Amino acid sequence: MVTGSDARRIPGEGRLFIGGEWRSAQAGGVIDVVDPALGERVGQVAAASSADIDAAVAAATAALASATNGNWSPEKRQNALLALASAIDANAGELAQLEMLDAGKPISNVNMVDVPQSAAGLRYFAGWATKLEGQTMALSVPGDWHACTLREPVGVVGQIIPWNYPLMGAAMKIGPAIAAGCAVILKPAENTNLSALRLAELIQTCGFPPGMVNILPGLGTEAGTALVKHPDIAKIAFTGSTATGKAILRDAADLLKRVTVELGGKSPVIVMPDADIESAARGIAMGIFFNSGQTCSAGSRLLVHASVAGPLMARVAEIARAMSLGDPANPKTQLGPVISDVQRDRILGYVDRAVADGARCLVGSERHHGAGFYIHPTILDDVQARMEVMREEVFGPVLAAMRFETTDLDEIAALANDNDYGLSAYVWTSSITSALGLVKRLKSGTVRVNTASGNDFAMPAGGVKQSGNGRENGRAGVEAYTELKSVTIAL
Ligand code: NAD
Repeated sequence: MVTGSDARRIPGEGRLFIGGEWRSAQAGGVIDVVDPALGERVGQVAAASSADIDAAVAAATAALASATNGNWSPEKRQNALLALASAIDANAGELAQLEMLDAGKPISNVNMVDVPQSAAGLRYFAGWATKLEGQTMALSVPGDWHACTLREPVGVVGQIIPWNYPLMGAAMKIGPAIAAGCAVILKPAENTNLSALRLAELIQTCGFPPGMVNILPGLGTEAGTALVKHPDIAKIAFTGSTATGKAILRDAADLLKRVTVELGGKSPVIVMPDADIESAARGIAMGIFFNSGQTCSAGSRLLVHASVAGPLMARVAEIARAMSLGDPANPKTQLGPVISDVQRDRILGYVDRAVADGARCLVGSERHHGAGFYIHPTILDDVQARMEVMREEVFGPVLAAMRFETTDLDEIAALANDNDYGLSAYVWTSSITSALGLVKRLKSGTVRVNTASGNDFAMPAGGVKQSGNGRENGRAGVEAYTELKSVTIAL
């Protein structure tokens, strides 16, 4: 149960969801539930050990083995995902409260984005369950042939997610895996288990065979590693930091397990001299300050042409100063706390070192001294390309800005590409030539022109360079849970 002043219930009594039922952790491990707005422990959930992961793998394997004779047909998978989406809608208020309590997210954001988009994502992926298909081929080798490909589910998949969008992260992992016909073992992040456990309760009511979806809170280094190394898990789908992604790729190498990794970013925002300054300023502020900057695709590296830097920076600073930071339960709050004291200290360390290294703190020099892990929206100007705040992912509400003089697209793209990451890039311009010219030159999984939003489940999402490999969303995101089998029949 949640303790203290908050009387809310912990879903599933904080136990592990294995084989369609709630089980206690075999080794008795626990993880604290901390409210980031108060900095207080408000409860505990069970932490899975490798023995619990073994049990979940056995349940998932059994579920797939009995999914025959049409009892888990594409249409049934579609309908279960649609039912889960409807269950999310029907329980939206409770899910929003859990997400706010656990992740410190402003309630207005959760109501507007996290909860409805989780349902929308499941509906999108539900549609794919009935549309996956192979092809027939005409062969050139002599003979009479029937040749085709079959698209088959990879099997049992382990899914490991971060804390920044806990419910959406779970829905976006479960949706495509179930659509493709896989069985799932999902491990939420240590900091944010509550909405995933509530999702498990809803899954119990939506027609999923027991064991087809298992949800187990646990430590990354224990339950996470056990998933990655388990011989009966065919694929790991990971979203999280680049460092953890690399560790997972190493751990999965021995079994040559399928692995997709969606990792960090340090996404450039390019403002050309002909940009609409007001739209750009609003987009830039939203792109870095939404969810307190804890978004993988946040535009955190602002590259602005010197001719428009003055008005642009002044307007972004004005928007940042007007943003309301505070109690996530207040519907007017735009920025809640960051996830933990560790993250708060890490983010502030980046800011302090940047200022010591010569950056100018335009907005956000004040510090929060009360309870909770709050950080003011922060803008650092006159940052140099070599500085760590321009190169590393801060994952907080911190915009690092530098100016450029050139209008040569190769030179501008080179500035933007001068980074280990390649997740997203943003371009603000009124010139179609600059827009398309930069789109071609930017080394990035996603490029957005004249917008900081435009997320849609139909659009593949993923990174190049150290932002990961593989794509989520769209056809590619569902096919990533399948193997392609080539069949050649001599007639
Ligand atoms: P993290 O890498 O610390 O943890 C992510 C998950 O991995 C957690 O569930 C954790 O328990 C688990 N984990 C940790 N060590 C593990 C190990 N050795 N083996 C297996 N699992 C392990 O990341 P985080 O701090 O929770 O999340 C923030 C990061 O996620 C940022 O870098 C952000 O950019 C990234 N992210 C990327 C995307 C994307 O789509 N590219 C989306 C959201 C977040």
